[in-house]
Amino acid sequence: MSDPRGPSTRAVHAGLPPAVQGAPLVPGPALAAPFHLQGELGDAPYGYTRDGNPTWSAVEAALGALEDAESVLFASGMAALSAVLEPALAAGDVLVAVADGYPGVRGVAADRLAPHGVEVRLVSTDTEATIAACPGATLVWIETPSNPRLDVCDIAAVAAAAHAAGARLVVDNTLATPLGQRPLDLGADAAMLSATKALSGHSDLVLGAVAVRDPEWAGALRRHRSQGGAIAGPFEAWLLHRSLATLELRLARQSANALAVARFLQGRPEIAEVVHPGLEDHPAYVLAATQMRHLGPLVGFSLHGAEAARRFLGALQLVAEATSFGGVHATAERRARWGTDAVPEGFIRFSAGIEDPADLLADVEQALAA
Ligand code: PLP
Repeated sequence: MSDPRGPSTRAVHAGLPPAVQGAPLVPGPALAAPFHLQGELGDAPYGYTRDGNPTWSAVEAALGALEDAESVLFASGMAALSAVLEPALAAGDVLVAVADGYPGVRGVAADRLAPHGVEVRLVSTDTEATIAACPGATLVWIETPSNPRLDVCDIAAVAAAAHAAGARLVVDNTLATPLGQRPLDLGADAAMLSATKALSGHSDLVLGAVAVRDPEWAGALRRHRSQGGAIAGPFEAWLLHRSLATLELRLARQSANALAVARFLQGRPEIAEVVHPGLEDHPAYVLAATQMRHLGPLVGFSLHGAEAARRFLGALQLVAEATSFGGVHATAERRARWGTDAVPEGFIRFSAGIEDPADLLADVEQALAA
């Protein structure tokens, strides 16, 4: 049953053990390879960390509590993504996948699925286009809001179309996190996360997770993790759990800061376009407001060409030039430098941190002047 308590309360208490006299309030990481395992296996909860670890269990319980689902932890977002895609698709199956989101999914589709006979249909982040691609599909993979252009899909409408076609819907929920948006409640079959971004939020670890409500699928994901062998270290898992306590606070501030930056940039002569689903002129403004609790840390904008963007980034003092996003420290990068996204040469992906908004805007303003 769904937990009736508020999101901050749930994030702070999720996955913590009941009180035991004299035991730590918050358990430390279980840095162990084997566990005592005497006699027959019976119902021993842990034997060997590649198969299971108490710190994984704690953070999985916490993530599961935020999603009302079973959560499975992976060593990275890409490991989580691959664990969903690869076992689900065989020769003759059809994958509908996001064309303009994080490029990792397209790479897996092109290098690991298409050569084995999986048909791959790439569609942009658009509700109607995705629905039109669903007939005949085995699995539909969307990312909403999409990274980096922040387009938004109607998850419930796409879930209905995917299910009518007999397909499963997976949502990459990295940008919003489970406190920003709950894809499983809207009909998705799985919600995948790169925990590297806003979920952990301190730019100090790489992890991923998948949430599902089908216990058989959760078991299959765990077996895939054990057999693949590339597992999360208990210390990183512990750091993630620790970071979850502040997720609601971080996300609220980051979302407000990102919107403040978007509003500040709108209409300025140095700026060719600003994309943010919280701006009234965004095509999915109403949808985003109904589907999401927080709009996330990102804002996208274009300066007039690559050189102007480089000068802007070079002049920022508070905001660090770096890839990735979702950390408590604001970062920005010229996205076209990677050559993987269909964005203008001067497009900046800006990730708002939890700085005071006035300081963030002042840094952006002085860098624009430069
Ligand atoms: N999904 C999205 C939306 C991402 O932005 C990223 C990484 O940038 C990933 C998945 C992959 O996650 P990781 O880098 O943790 O493997």
